Amino acid sequence: MSDRSLPETVEHLVVGAGFAGLCTAVKLDEDGERDFLVVEKGADVGGTWRDNTYPGAACDVPSQLYSFSFAPNPDWTRSYSFQPEIQAYIQRVARESGTLDRFVFDTTVEDACWDEGQQRWVVTTSAGTVRARNLVVGSGGLSAPKLPDIPGIEDFGGEVFHSARWRHDVDLTGKRVAVIGTGASAIQIVPEIQKVAGHLDVYQRTPPWVIPRSDRPYTRLERLGLRHLPALRRLYRTGVYWARETYVPAFTVAPRIAWPARRLAEANIARGIKDPGLRDKVTPDYELGCKRVLISNAYYPALAAENVELVTDRIAAVTPTGIVTADGTERPVDVLVVATGFHTTDLPIAAQVTGREGRSLAEVWAERGMTAYKGTTVPGFPNLFLIVGPNTGLGHSSMVFVIESQVRYIREAIRTMREHRYAAVEPHQDATDAWNQRLQRRMARTVWSTGGCSSWYLDEHGRNTTLWPRSTFNLRAVLAEFDVAAYDVRAPRPAPTSGSTSGSTSGSTADEFLEEMPA
Ligand code: NAP
Repeated sequence: MSDRSLPETVEHLVVGAGFAGLCTAVKLDEDGERDFLVVEKGADVGGTWRDNTYPGAACDVPSQLYSFSFAPNPDWTRSYSFQPEIQAYIQRVARESGTLDRFVFDTTVEDACWDEGQQRWVVTTSAGTVRARNLVVGSGGLSAPKLPDIPGIEDFGGEVFHSARWRHDVDLTGKRVAVIGTGASAIQIVPEIQKVAGHLDVYQRTPPWVIPRSDRPYTRLERLGLRHLPALRRLYRTGVYWARETYVPAFTVAPRIAWPARRLAEANIARGIKDPGLRDKVTPDYELGCKRVLISNAYYPALAAENVELVTDRIAAVTPTGIVTADGTERPVDVLVVATGFHTTDLPIAAQVTGREGRSLAEVWAERGMTAYKGTTVPGFPNLFLIVGPNTGLGHSSMVFVIESQVRYIREAIRTMREHRYAAVEPHQDATDAWNQRLQRRMARTVWSTGGCSSWYLDEHGRNTTLWPRSTFNLRAVLAEFDVAAYDVRAPRPAPTSGSTSGSTSGSTADEFLEEMPA
């Protein structure tokens, strides 16, 4: 639909066609809410799985769980899928959903402003302007590549690119390659580059904890079973789900009980690396879980290979021909791969969304920190729904589960609005503050706060605004119903004198929901 002109109005405008946008489209359609558009800057569905095509890209959550509950894939070929299989799955779900006629590709959202008079969002895109009752933002928390601020990097004479914008046209065979970063992306890239590069320098600022990856292709029998026995698939998915939930106490309450995982990680180092000096360099000095726990069997052997050097000296500058570290050493580089992560606590979309008081989400968050009510709605921004919003990320399980939970909440909100003919809903500041205070109190006990590391989970003030500090079933429970009492609601097409017809302003609503969470 990318070459079609946009309609002037739609009921729901969805930004992003990754797992979040697609889930929203499928479920809105299922609810009979057919008047929606999904606007996507790229040329295809898939989001992060469309963009991250680097060699070795794969998911750290088994595919049986990292997929929609309503669209099982009977054909996964292995326990942890590689990117092409996940992307093909998303494309298939989109195709079979019958909603693709309402997706607009190659179209960027430039800004979105709330029109209080019309009670609508006015969304300016590269393909025209659309007015929408509801704005659902599913543009992702890991979609805007973060480039390192290293002196001289703009003047580098060789090829340089980010892990999420892989240049498949650049042949690395026999080249001198440098990878900056040792996060989830880098540890998948490094073993692949090591196989072909002449020489590889890996620039590590902080070592990650890396445990073994229990990945394998399914046997023929397993594939037959998973294809023909839906009950087996469900059992497998349920088993993976609960196995993952058992990690939660170690992350959120008692990091010390993660010692078996730490032993596994130490054994992984010992197995992969013989040199004691290199072993020391890759052994973290913070609690396991503080940064994302990574999984790989290939990373440490790759670091130990003859054509690889792990560089732990601070990078001082990039020259036109190489990288200079703080000790003055210059290492020549032909191709520079920047695996330095994403803008996670300063989401670019926030600068483009302007609320009821004429302030952007970025301005509001600059004051208050990146916060939302239940990770989904924001005071001052009526009818705005964020998917994978503040404090909904996970360190242990499938974001698809979170996305489905949030989409359920949004559907409930829309159903409530229809039923009561509300033109707009907006969470109370009190309820939002109570929610976030409570959440941050819980956060203080987690390994992300106490583990002795810095990470992309934390904002510039050291506050964790990205992760959910409880189990995923807690999150699903708090998002199960649209709690209209925590919202200011407005009548349709309000007369100039009519203001809020709000329900209660009880700040305790969020508290009650959090209290209801099982321990
Ligand atoms: P990341 O985890 O943020 O890692 C970035 C790496 O770059 C870190 O090692 C960081 O060091 C380093 N770095 C950043 N700026 C630097 C600088 N100026 N100089 C030197 N080093 C610098 O990013 P990512 O690896 O792309 O992963 C992001 C997230 O995406 C993951 O945590 C995960 O949630 C998701 N992901 C998942 C998978 C998977 O499922 N397998 C794969 C890829 C990504 P410090 O640690 O010192 O900051």
